[in-house]
Amino acid sequence: MPKVNVLGVDFDNYSLEEFKNQFISRLNNHLSTMIVTANPEIVMLAKQDPKFMKLLQTTPDFITADGIGVVLAGKMQKTPLKERVTGYDLFTWFMQVANLRHLRVYLVGAKPEVIKAVKEKIAKDYPGIVLVGAQDGYFKDDLKTMAQKIEATKPDMVFAAVGFPRQEQLISIMRKDNLPALMMGVGGSFDVFSG
Ligand code: UDP
Repeated sequence: MPKVNVLGVDFDNYSLEEFKNQFISRLNNHLSTMIVTANPEIVMLAKQDPKFMKLLQTTPDFITADGIGVVLAGKMQKTPLKERVTGYDLFTWFMQVANLRHLRVYLVGAKPEVIKAVKEKIAKDYPGIVLVGAQDGYFKDDLKTMAQKIEATKPDMVFAAVGFPRQEQLISIMRKDNLPALMMGVGGSFDVFSG
């Protein structure tokens, strides 16, 4: 797999189309898949937080460059990345895939009124999606308990928008449990998607 290292984080050097092909292939094979769309803030946090850096270096199956700052850093060190691949673009594309294939989707994150609006939008615009969970991001459970609740719904896709590094920590638990789902942290995407 072609990689570009930026400040200790290994980015997968694929175009958006190449990423999509890999994701579809893993989805078709029911493989447990963790995707991190890493922006400069995530890279800077990893630099300061060895535990988070270790998570990024060991658990995700894919790390995309979500930010022009990462793409520029690759260019400056003469190891250019093919393109910027953002969490929001991937999220909206995954929603279309889930709609067409009638997949089971679990969403966790954002404020209660935001996740409610997301739920309504999915019912209206993505009727093919089987929404198995729409949990706001201000739950009291610890991450392990939340992960178990998500796993019990047998999702094909999980999107977590509870801020980083928490969303990555939550997904890494399910990835280590080998949950056969495609899982991605999506930051503020629910807020944008609902609006
Ligand atoms: N969020 C959440 N629970 C929290 C903190 C944040 O669900 O305890 C949500 C927040 O409502 C927003 C998303 O996480 O929808 C991203 O939040 P923020 O912009 O603070 O994080 P970042 O994009 O920097 O990861």
